[in-house]
Amino acid sequence: MILITGGAGFIGTNFILDWVRQSDEGILNLDKLTYAGNLQNLASLAGNPQHIFTHGDICDQEKVTALLNRYRPRAIIHMAAESHVDRSIHGPEDFVQTNITGTFRLLEAARHYWKDLTPPQKAHFRFLHVSTDEVFGSLDQQAPAFTENHCLRPNSPYSASKAASDCLVRAYFHTYGLPVLTTHCSNNYGAYQFPEKLIPLMITNALAGKPLPIYGDGQQIRDWLYVNDHCSAIRRVLEQGQPGETYNIGGWNEKPNLEIVHTICDILQTYRPADYHALITFITDRPGHDRRYAIDARKIERELGWKPAETFATGIEKTVHWYLENQDWVANVQSGDYRKWVEINYDGR
Ligand code: NAD
Repeated sequence: MILITGGAGFIGTNFILDWVRQSDEGILNLDKLTYAGNLQNLASLAGNPQHIFTHGDICDQEKVTALLNRYRPRAIIHMAAESHVDRSIHGPEDFVQTNITGTFRLLEAARHYWKDLTPPQKAHFRFLHVSTDEVFGSLDQQAPAFTENHCLRPNSPYSASKAASDCLVRAYFHTYGLPVLTTHCSNNYGAYQFPEKLIPLMITNALAGKPLPIYGDGQQIRDWLYVNDHCSAIRRVLEQGQPGETYNIGGWNEKPNLEIVHTICDILQTYRPADYHALITFITDRPGHDRRYAIDARKIERELGWKPAETFATGIEKTVHWYLENQDWVANVQSGDYRKWVEINYDGR
């Protein structure tokens, strides 16, 4: 059994669906179901004993401890977070609470659980912390991509809170010997992403004939990875990563935001012809907007033999197609009905 936090979010959903397809091992999903948690994403697993959902907050150390003692997981994959940069600018408090205090509470629960395991179980246990490339801050145009040794220079309340959690995770390895692993991944895209993030926002707005808002000049560069490739990298790090190490995860896909939006418009045009490009609207830039992120993923490729399965071209095509095929999912999220689904279908365990 493994414990995942934040398993009803975008990456968590994809991770759990992949996990259940590829393994017989149980997966316990602890999620607070904030606006970003959508349990309906996992409706296909209803009645499947391999996935156990439990509603709760990672800040609730007593609850986490009780879960660890009851289910005895061999690993924790920590994904729960407040994850949206714009929200962190308007309301940083939740980010400090979940991303910093929550990670601290989870580490405390894990440390006490781990120290009482038998020696073989102790050696086998892993705490895998899922972090982001945004903790490294902004890169100059010509600078080499972030390696694992790049210093932490976060610029938004979101990235600052993630960097703080990275430091706590590191400290629990050096101080207590807790076998931790940290991953720093670039921007993810794919199925089930909440339509507040760039790619699903552009797809859903374009289909609705709404403006496609581009911050500043749209030349901010991000490195993109298809979500299922992120999931395969996490599984690889979990099984083969060295405790105390950090691993960058990326797809060598640096692209300016504006180029991404044009690509989406081009793909949409092949399915439903319309002048989507005309919807592009430039808006005032985000305060403190990082200019460029780029991930050097050579360590995970070299040491763990991981490589992404998708190129950007194949991943973005699949993603646009998924949103076209899942208009009900989008409507449910936009109307807020996905929250009602939980009230009706979840027994409150
Ligand atoms: P998300 O916002 O889609 O999902 C977050 C999940 O965490 C939600 O299900 C939410 O209900 C849950 N959650 C929030 N606060 C909680 C709490 N206090 N207790 C329990 N559950 C809580 O996020 P995501 O995009 O799936 O990202 C998952 C992780 O991956 C995050 O840690 C994020 O920093 C990291 N990451 C994301 C990206 C990306 O591009 N999305 C890239 C690199 C790293």
